[in-house]
Amino acid sequence: MSRADVRELPVPSIGMQRGEVLVPTHVGDPVHGLLSCPAAPLVAGSLRARGRPVQLADLSDEASADFDARMYLVTCPREDGGTAAFAAAAAPGDALSAAAARTVIEEWAAVCANRSLLLSATPWCSGALHAASAASKAAAEHQNTERRVCVLTPAAMPPETAAELAGLGATVADSLEGLEPGDVVVFPAHGVTAQLRADAARRELVVVDATCPIVAAAQEAAARAADRGHQIVLVGQPEQAATIPIVSLAPGRVTVAETPAKTAGISAAQGPVSYLLEPGFSVEAGAPILSALRSRYPAARPAVPAEVCYAPSDRAGTIYSVALGSDLMLVVGDPQSSDARYACGIARDAGTKAQLIGNVEDIKPAMLASVNTIGMAESTSAAAGLAARVLDALSGLGRLTIARRRLSTEKATGALG
Ligand code: SF4
Repeated sequence: MSRADVRELPVPSIGMQRGEVLVPTHVGDPVHGLLSCPAAPLVAGSLRARGRPVQLADLSDEASADFDARMYLVTCPREDGGTAAFAAAAAPGDALSAAAARTVIEEWAAVCANRSLLLSATPWCSGALHAASAASKAAAEHQNTERRVCVLTPAAMPPETAAELAGLGATVADSLEGLEPGDVVVFPAHGVTAQLRADAARRELVVVDATCPIVAAAQEAAARAADRGHQIVLVGQPEQAATIPIVSLAPGRVTVAETPAKTAGISAAQGPVSYLLEPGFSVEAGAPILSALRSRYPAARPAVPAEVCYAPSDRAGTIYSVALGSDLMLVVGDPQSSDARYACGIARDAGTKAQLIGNVEDIKPAMLASVNTIGMAESTSAAAGLAARVLDALSGLGRLTIARRRLSTEKATGALG
């Protein structure tokens, strides 16, 4: 890793205020011409962390007779063969701001390098994406009609889709309150309770059922087993989105087992035991619980043997694999969210340093020292466009070669060879 040169250039002071540092988003360089500065948010973040007010501005076409301000500028190669820059400038006579500008540019210059970035696949499973797309389609179809479109929670969807739905006038709610006959209700990927389904019919709502097929299969299996008088052990977590709808289809017959010990409370005297792995619960987390259940009740049978969701396992495996191949793992998402912390935990289990990034400005030069390969995973809590902004900013610190990794478990059909 080599330190990039910092050049000091005279620039016009138009728009510069004493006490603040100007960080260009574009800049005219006498050597390379007009350059964009994708890493400007990183520079701005470092300055703000030092308590310096910052103004981001386009300095590419400032024409002036007076080049009376000083700018500190670094150029570096881009992956597309072009050149990027990052810079900071201070008003004439503002020694404190100029010193801060120089120091921060030197810090970022020290970590300029050509790097690889390994991106983990989207955090959204196929069921959630399908439901998001069904909701968007319904909202677009009914946008200019009298019919309201309501998407029921938990509406797990990318933030871009949530914004699109809001723009189309759709609402997200946890009940059918206020909906009139003919209004449209979208059921979420992890399904709804039997009572809510009946309520939608009673209110004469138009139902867009976006329940994931794996969830629907689990719900049907639970209802069938209950009809046969079975006790059902749902291997999963009480607070998971799919739990309440499944429980509602087999009232009084479901025991949720989130640990092997929870399987002890079932009495075989109350009827045959069937079990289900909750859709959305990873097969790895479920395996010891299922093993404990089978050893306690050897006659227990799976209620739906062919339908298993591998999405959580595939996501965890992908993050682990990306982290294993990286010097630093950036997890993009809300630092308060359990999903972002979960992704960080997987990366740390792989022995890789992990940083939660809730904002582009959270990336600091010290994080990138001696880092050749950056891993990146997006949390479901990431703000719209944040991952793209992080990639863009990192692309302004030298050539950034981006690859995407996705581990995926596929159903094998027919003869294996
Ligand atoms: S069952 Fe799997 S694919 Fe379907 S919504 Fe749940 S996590 Fe997603």
